[in-house]
Parts: sequence; structure tokens; C-alpha cells
Amino acid sequence: MAQIDDLPPLREVIRRHELRPKKSLGQNFLLDLNLTARIARAAEPLAGSTIVEIGPGPGGLTRALLALGAGRVIAVERDERAIAALQEIAARYPGRLEIVSGDALRFDPRSRLNGARAKIVANLPYNIATVLLVDWLTSEPWPPWFDEMVLMFQREVAERIVAPPGSKTYGRLSVLAGWRTQAKILFDVAPSAFVPPPKVTSSVVRLVPRQAPLACDARALQRVTEAGFGQRRKMLRQSLKTLGIDAAALLAAAGIEPTARAEDISVEGFVALARAFAERTQSRVC
Ligand code: SAM
Repeated sequence: MAQIDDLPPLREVIRRHELRPKKSLGQNFLLDLNLTARIARAAEPLAGSTIVEIGPGPGGLTRALLALGAGRVIAVERDERAIAALQEIAARYPGRLEIVSGDALRFDPRSRLNGARAKIVANLPYNIATVLLVDWLTSEPWPPWFDEMVLMFQREVAERIVAPPGSKTYGRLSVLAGWRTQAKILFDVAPSAFVPPPKVTSSVVRLVPRQAPLACDARALQRVTEAGFGQRRKMLRQSLKTLGIDAAALLAAAGIEPTARAEDISVEGFVALARAFAERTQSRVC
């Protein structure tokens, strides 16, 4: 294991603070400091940057971010058992680590940023990873408060994020991610890298916000993608009926064949559908 700082090895930290991994909190810890450093480096340049980390746990990734020069890390952790371990890291890097003890789903980092820009870097708890990502992707205003996201997901979720139209894994997440970001899988991480090892391979994904994505109401886009992919094998003239409006007229307005299926529609096509939907339902104009 690489020596990135003079703090005790993570195994010792976990033992001393009795951080037995809890499944309910999606706890699969990374103890290999080479690997945490590799994830942190994917978010370079770190010098002078502010990082929002979700779920630092015993702090392996947090330590890598700080050792590699992150100016400020705001780390949001729900497990109170981890707070004392994180405080030891904060003491080693005075003034650079802010520990937020609480639920990331209820925390808005903007309350701490005072308009400053940040990057989101995390080995996400798998049980809330998609909810958090959708929340970030539908942030308003856009461009958002973050310049970049470097996130670990289960490989299957990572594939859905980057999937192109026409592929089996193309879905709602691919459309949202493709609409507002450029997303790329950087590398895979084997189950054996975690304690305890999960059942599946994980992947680190980088998402960089587009500065000028096609204008569209995020809620309308979510509604049409949910309807379209909710019954992905059906033709859109059928699946979009769940929206409760004239599906044929909606498709005509968006210039999409009524016999097309959701998996064949590009991001631009879904944006056209969302605009037509927003106009018809008098929700916010795109
Ligand atoms: N970053 C550490 C690492 O890489 O070893 C831990 C990653 S582990 C996959 C996910 C972490 O998220 C755990 O520490 C868990 O306690 C925390 N967590 C789970 N749900 C959370 C929530 N709602 N808000 C904040 N943290 C949460």
C-alpha cells in the first residue's frame, strides 16, 4: 500500500473506531491508497480547488484528495461512527476539511460555497447513487455550482450513464446525463478492492457539465423519459399515453415517428419531446 500521508493505515482506523461496514448505508470501503489516489487524480487539478465528497466513511478518498492538494474538502457523512475518524484527518490538514454530519440527500452544498465553484468526488453509497446523480443533473440554474463530477458507481449504472441511443443500456439516465454533461467511464474497480467486496464490478465516471446544453425544462424531460422508457419495448405512440395527453400530437410536434421506440431516440429528440410536452401542459416554457 502506498504511503500518502503520516496518518494510520485505514484498517487500523476502521478497527479503532469500530467501523464495521453496514449494508444499510451502502458501506464498501476502499482501503487501497493507490486506488483512492487514482480516483482523486482523476479530478485534477486539485490545488486550490473545493471538493464536495459524499460519504467519506473512514476517509481513504478524503485523505487522497487532501494529500494531493485539494484546498478545501466538504465531506458529508451520515454514519456518526465515522465522524471521529474524519476529525483526525481534519486535525492533520488544519482548515481544509469540513465535516458535515448528516444525510447527503438533505444537504445543499451551495449553503457552504458562497458562490464558489466546486467539484464533486465520491465513492457513492450504491443505494442512493442514482438519486443523487439525477438531483445534480437536474440542478438549476445551469451551468451548475460544480465544474466536474468524478464518481464511483456499480459498472451497470456507469454503463447506463454513458450509453448511446440504440444500445440496450440506453435509458432515462443516459438522456439526462447526455443532455447536460459529457460523461466518460475512466476505469473499472474490481470487487476485491473493497471491504467488504460487493458482488459486482464498479466504475469511476467523469461527468463534465456542458456550458450550453439544449434549452429544456428538466422536469418535462424527466416526465417524457420516464414515460418512454417505462415501457421501452413499446412504440412511443403507446408508451407516451401514460403522460395523459395526446401522444400522437406530441410526437408530431417533436418530429418523431409514432412507431419509434424510446431506445432509438437521441437526446435531441427527447429534448424536442420535452419542449412539446411543456408547451401542452403549460409548465415552464423551455
Ligand atoms: N468514501 C469511502 C471509501 O471510499 O472507502 C466510503 C464509501 S462507501 C461506498 C459509502 C459511504 O457513504 C459510507 O461511508 C456511508 O456511511 C455513506 N453514506 C451512506 N448513505 C449516506 C447518506 N445518505 N448521506 C451521506 N453519506 C452516506
